[in-house]
Amino acid sequence: MERTLSIVKPDGVRKNIIGEVIGRFEKIGLKVAGLKMASLSKKEAEGFYAVHRNRPFFESLTGFMSSGPVVLMVLSGDDAIRKVREIMGATDPKNAKAGTIRKDFADSIEANIVHGSDGPDTAAFEIPYFFSALEIFE
Ligand code: AMP
Repeated sequence: MERTLSIVKPDGVRKNIIGEVIGRFEKIGLKVAGLKMASLSKKEAEGFYAVHRNRPFFESLTGFMSSGPVVLMVLSGDDAIRKVREIMGATDPKNAKAGTIRKDFADSIEANIVHGSDGPDTAAFEIPYFFSALEIFE
């Protein structure tokens, strides 16, 4: 059993596809172990993406992530981190494979609908950034 953090980003919420994204995770056998909606402040988005603070896209990315409500979730299951990354598709939707969430719905490398932790260390930082132990159920 493994846990990962996923986010339906502000573009996904605006496009009214919260259920579609969660449904795709459920269809590949993952459990929703924690779930909440939030509107991130710029500071909260900057803390979440602190590893990217020196990248040229940091300002724009954190502005985008604080531009509207998001859905935060903890997904659990066997090989959850890899499975979520596979179903999301490549970061840039132009490179995403057919049938992935980003291929089907994303507009750009920044507005790419969904986030998923990229490894166990990242998940170990990202899950407690948003969820307390009492808010996780699997
Ligand atoms: P990651 O930590 O891999 O999820 O990357 C964080 C997010 O930064 C990605 O999901 C994109 O939304 C954004 N991002 C990554 N690379 C770029 C880029 N070259 N230009 C703009 N946004 C990017």
